[in-house]
Amino acid sequence: VGMETFTKMSDGSVSKPHVAFLASPGMGHITPLFELALRIVNEHNFQVSFLVITTDATLAQHKYLHANPHPDLHIVDLPPADMSGLLFEDMTVVTRLSVIVQESIHPLRSVLSGLNRPKLKAFIIDIFCTGVSNACKDLSIPVYSFFTAPAALLAFSLYLPTLDREVEGEFVDLPEPVKIPGCKQIRTQDLMDQVRNRKIDEYKWYLLHVSRLSMSTGIFVNTWDDLEPVWLKALKYEQFFLDIPTPPVYPVGPLTKGSEPVSNGNEKDIMAWLDIQPKDSVLLVSLGSGGTLTSVQLTELALGLELSQQRFILVVRTPSDSAFAAFFTTGFDSDEPIAYLPDGFVERTKEVGLVVSSWAPQVAVLNHRSTGAFLSHCGWNSTLESVKHGVPIIGLPLYAEQRMNAKMLSDEIGVAVTMPVVGEGGETVVVGRKEIERVVRMVMEGEEGKKVKSRAKELETSARKTLSCGGSSYETLARVAELLRRES
Ligand code: UDP
Ligand code: UDP
Repeated sequence: VGMETFTKMSDGSVSKPHVAFLASPGMGHITPLFELALRIVNEHNFQVSFLVITTDATLAQHKYLHANPHPDLHIVDLPPADMSGLLFEDMTVVTRLSVIVQESIHPLRSVLSGLNRPKLKAFIIDIFCTGVSNACKDLSIPVYSFFTAPAALLAFSLYLPTLDREVEGEFVDLPEPVKIPGCKQIRTQDLMDQVRNRKIDEYKWYLLHVSRLSMSTGIFVNTWDDLEPVWLKALKYEQFFLDIPTPPVYPVGPLTKGSEPVSNGNEKDIMAWLDIQPKDSVLLVSLGSGGTLTSVQLTELALGLELSQQRFILVVRTPSDSAFAAFFTTGFDSDEPIAYLPDGFVERTKEVGLVVSSWAPQVAVLNHRSTGAFLSHCGWNSTLESVKHGVPIIGLPLYAEQRMNAKMLSDEIGVAVTMPVVGEGGETVVVGRKEIERVVRMVMEGEEGKKVKSRAKELETSARKTLSCGGSSYETLARVAELLRRES
């Protein structure tokens, strides 16, 4: 590394180029941003200040951020904001995140001024932190966004302000799918939850953030050219996006957390159980960090798994309607999700199945040779973790943009088979046990299974290549690192 990459300090010493990060709460945002920070530090010789919103922080978050201390990666806790009086129970996810960030960044100007030596080359934020732009403008620090969802959603999001101007009424009532210039169309029933009702705060916050997105200096996105070629090409060359204008889009993915150290007894038991199963024989069933099913859907899922007679690990969370369930039924222990499974299920399936309460070391399980497929809600981090380990997906999308992800994974990318979760009128429907059985068998032992498995293996290789020296995501980040170094 040449001397030109370092800044000379007033005392004559040199220091590495410096960038700061800020992620909104939730592992789904913190993980990809932190993995990007690690790469910039380890592979491109930067130093990073990683700002953390401590309100709402979880133990999982703390453990992850502090697992491997690095001398050039400083974790900077923002002072906890006073949020008493805010009615979080009444807010949906994007509103909640936006309000927490808004309240937490009051001290940002002074925090950034304190960090600004050597001068920050960039401030890298996720999409819910766009409120930082004024502070950064005053301090002349360029803002980069990291879009932690697919390029397909990035394209839709950049198109949203136009759609908002041109369409009257609700997008979900449009007679035709939404056609984004240069891109595949999106069926109205697959539109993300945040844009299904334009009258509520959730939509207004999302629109505000995406409107500010096009004002960033650059947009990182957690994907790579082989995974979403059409969408990335449109973002780069399509006249519509050039006209917005869209800042340069930098695909740097798949950035996912590394295999976590398996620490507690419960996690060791899961890995030990996997060790004695045949190769590719186990279906991991897990629906994300926030993913909860209704009790009816949980019952159908469990009974469908049982009918399929396949090996499985089922991660169970308390159903979303459990408050009512607990209210109407006695004998429920609401802290023990396994109690919500059908009577006798655990006992009947114990030869082939492992039921895990609440949380599994997902990456370690996906990385295990016995894991053959992943029944997932298609959250973007889970999706990337799955394809990175060559594991095909059975999609059971639940919320946010997951229906769109699932559709793309099955119809465009060919690495998934998706359950029919929306009815004719766009309403959410319960997927019955027979359908679950059919799809699980099809993927675990049918012809369709062979296709999605071989596609998953291709993507595993492609993911490894793109992140290695000479690969597209690696080189893209190297190029940005070089641009940032030269930033005065
Ligand atoms: N989202 C987005 N761009 C991003 C990250 C998230 O459009 O870069 C969307 C995401 O698809 C979802 C919503 O914002 O509709 C909430 O994000 P997420 O589900 O990641 O929040 P979490 O459940 O992790 O708190
Ligand atoms: N996760 C995990 N164990 C679980 C459930 C989830 O480790 O039992 C992790 C998973 O590996 C992923 C993240 O939580 O990194 C979930 O992110 P995703 O974007 O898939 O979905 P979200 O939870 O944001 O809806």
